Amino acid sequence: MLKDYIKASQQKMTEQISNFYTPSGIQVYFKDQMHDTSIDIERVVADLEKRVPRHLTDEVEMIIIGHFQEFEDRDINAFYKDGALHISNIQSDEEDILDDMIHEAAHAAEEAYGYEIYGDSKIKDEFLRKRMHLYNILWKMGFKAPKSVFLDTEFDREFDEFLFNDVGYDTMGEAITGLFINAYAPTSLSEYFATGFTDFYLQPNEHSFLKKTSPALYEKLLLLHNLDKIN
Ligand SMILES: [Zn+2]
Repeated sequence: MLKDYIKASQQKMTEQISNFYTPSGIQVYFKDQMHDTSIDIERVVADLEKRVPRHLTDEVEMIIIGHFQEFEDRDINAFYKDGALHISNIQSDEEDILDDMIHEAAHAAEEAYGYEIYGDSKIKDEFLRKRMHLYNILWKMGFKAPKSVFLDTEFDREFDEFLFNDVGYDTMGEAITGLFINAYAPTSLSEYFATGFTDFYLQPNEHSFLKKTSPALYEKLLLLHNLDKIN
């Protein structure tokens, strides 16, 4: 009996690390094994493909699970690069991984649909208006950084440290209430888009918060979602 059990669990482990292709042709590759072997990556990827329409993940050829130096260098646990979603093998649950995968798929969609997303400047205008509000709120709270950094749409390490080390996560949560959907959204224009995209697909039946907080971004996400029906 015990022998059977060991055999079965070994088989299960081998199954865990085996690479696979999804029905839509995305290759899932395990560079390293999941720390928590009860997490079913195949199920998470199937969920991702069910939620995010195929035309938006066109750029994604591969999902690589494992540990990458970039995670430590940039204090992150996922990133998108060269057609691949790089996802950490250390995760608390399947919802966590789905969140990461959808977020990085957003960055992939940015590459494929840069013009459709940013061409008319609507998201950028909305983002900068919100950044100016945030600048005023934080100034009043006593956190003073030059206005110019709030007008820079690119990710900036120093600004990121100002927001999360000087201001801090809790105070940021207070400052952004009603302004941004979460504390990560104000970090750059690209993250503003990616956090909205993630919320849109993680909560497919509850869009009212996103729509109310970021109407231009929401409008754009709807347009992107239906893009294949228009063309
Ligand atoms: Zn991101």
